[in-house]
Amino acid sequence: MLTKEKLELRQYRYKTKCIVLSYYGRGCCKCVKCGFDDIRALSIDHINGGGCQHRLKVKSNYSWFIVNHFPKGYQTLCMNCQIIKKIDNKENKYELNFNKRTNSDDRQLNLFIS
Ligand SMILES: [Zn+2]
Repeated sequence: MLTKEKLELRQYRYKTKCIVLSYYGRGCCKCVKCGFDDIRALSIDHINGGGCQHRLKVKSNYSWFIVNHFPKGYQTLCMNCQIIKKIDNKENKYELNFNKRTNSDDRQLNLFIS
């Protein structure tokens, strides 16, 4: 059973998450891409990447955004849109690398195909 303190802490975290997700969701607690609004599957996305480094610093602490006066460069996304964004970014990187491929890469590719 939850103690009163644990329950209050949980409510505080939920409230904080709602405030932060609503701010970065442009006034609504929704994904800015598709409009999905189940808070359990919403999170803050670093618009220009670098999410992993930031996550290590913040450790899913939504109050960090409030304490730091809602810094720019973030948006609210649902898990689906985050995964799609990640895949799109990887595909873009792959295309860039593919355009820069060397003769050795082509030989490996030919070995792989044949
Ligand atoms: Zn979405």
